[in-house]
Amino acid sequence: MSRVAVVGGGLAGLVAARDLVEQGHHVCLFEAGPGFGGAIAAAPLAGHLIDIGAEGFAITRSEATSLVEALGLGDCIVAPQRADAHIWRAGQLLAMPRSLMGIPTELDSDQIRALVGDEAIRRAHTLDAGAWLGSDDNITLADLVSSRLGPEFVTHLLNPVVCGVHATDPDRLQASAVIPGILAAAQQHGSLTAAADAIRSRAGTAGSAIHGLQGGMTSLIAALVAELTGTSSVQLHNDAHVTGITRRRSSWQVQVDVAHEVDAVVLAVSAPAAAKLLHDQPELQRVLSAFAVGDVAVVSMVLPSTELDQAPVGSGVLVDAAASSHLVSAKAMTHATAKWAWLQAAFGPGRHLLRLSYGRNGVIEHDLEHLLEIAVADARALTGADLGDPIAAKVTRWRESLVQATPGHLERVREVDDLAAELSGFAVVGAGLGGNGIAGTIARAQRASALL
Ligand SMILES: Cc1cc2nc3c(=O)[nH]c(=O)nc-3n(C[C@H](O)[C@H](O)[C@H](O)COP(=O)(O)OP(=O)(O)OC[C@H]3O[C@@H](n4cnc5c(N)ncnc54)[C@H](O)[C@@H]3O)c2cc1C
Repeated sequence: MSRVAVVGGGLAGLVAARDLVEQGHHVCLFEAGPGFGGAIAAAPLAGHLIDIGAEGFAITRSEATSLVEALGLGDCIVAPQRADAHIWRAGQLLAMPRSLMGIPTELDSDQIRALVGDEAIRRAHTLDAGAWLGSDDNITLADLVSSRLGPEFVTHLLNPVVCGVHATDPDRLQASAVIPGILAAAQQHGSLTAAADAIRSRAGTAGSAIHGLQGGMTSLIAALVAELTGTSSVQLHNDAHVTGITRRRSSWQVQVDVAHEVDAVVLAVSAPAAAKLLHDQPELQRVLSAFAVGDVAVVSMVLPSTELDQAPVGSGVLVDAAASSHLVSAKAMTHATAKWAWLQAAFGPGRHLLRLSYGRNGVIEHDLEHLLEIAVADARALTGADLGDPIAAKVTRWRESLVQATPGHLERVREVDDLAAELSGFAVVGAGLGGNGIAGTIARAQRASALL
């Protein structure tokens, strides 16, 4: 049994603490902010607590669902009541086809036809029927889709979806890092669309591949914190900003206000934040600094509108920026009260929660003080509705929150693990090393004790 310091009290830190306690360690967790949860956070808006960060989790893999169930929240898991998102292309609203992160699961559908046209579909059939010659593990998502389906699929489907989720263009992302297992599945099925279908079907339901929690995602954080505080071997500290971590001969010193001597350290902070703490580990600093991590901004606003009762954009829109960036600045908009029944019941008819996200490749082009005004104009353009002024709104900038898994990402993760393994009692679990997403974050953090 050893004393382990966990740095960072977002999802990764809390899940790592849970894993460490299960393995018999004593844990001291330090979180710089006033509360726990990191990018899983809520704020009151027009009398209701709403998610201002992550709002759902992937069910194409099991980690998030299993954890939620293990924490006794299985009954709170909800599927979206609407999963009919759209792609917005210069004022045209196009139904979103079934896809895995923008890779279509079939080619012959009316939605695909409306997006790319018959000629592109014919070419995609030919390309995707070609022999699978294997591919470089570092291939970008854009190159993978372009080579198997053609460039129209990149521009009109992959780009909007990937930018909406990862705030990065798919030509900057390593396919195998963003969609684990995609290359092996394509190899096995001999087709990219069949591979996307096989992975997507793991969700086991015909509807959305994303589920949420009744009352919002912070229920997961509250349950983790409640479980950990009920354990005598855990101490959770908020408002505890760690400023440095130093290796001693057989221990570690974690500098908060005072120095804490521990046997092991688990870092669960963003890659740039982790790099800053490791003053005496230049190699680790170098590798962690090589991860590109970007900011995004989310505007959550409640608007009065009877027109939105008809949910004109379904659960939301992803913006085809190539054709639309001169018209709107948002990359995606969720009509949250149409998507989630619990939010619709909370706000009632005539009041709607919209969430618009901004930022691409780490750049937010507008000052935060003007973003609400821009978001209202964007929402009017995207919904086509005559919207009044917001009743309530919250603009949040999420700093260094989304990792851009550029080519070489998985190799860099291996390098971090190799360097960490050379230092006894040290692991990095946050930092987006498990990818952008709740399921991947949980999967990696649950290995914290094994990585030490
Ligand atoms: C706007 C937004 C929406 C998202 N939506 C979804 C979604 O719908 N579904 C999904 O699956 N994923 C989503 N994600 C991604 C998902 O939320 C993250 O992958 C996950 O929550 C990351 O958890 P983490 O603990 O690694 O990092 P974080 O949540 O960033 O937590 C890191 C914590 O470390 C603390 N910290 C930093 N430096 C220090 C220090 N020096 N000392 C002490 N503490 C420190 C920070 O204050 C923070 O609380 C979204 C992310 C964002 C930003």
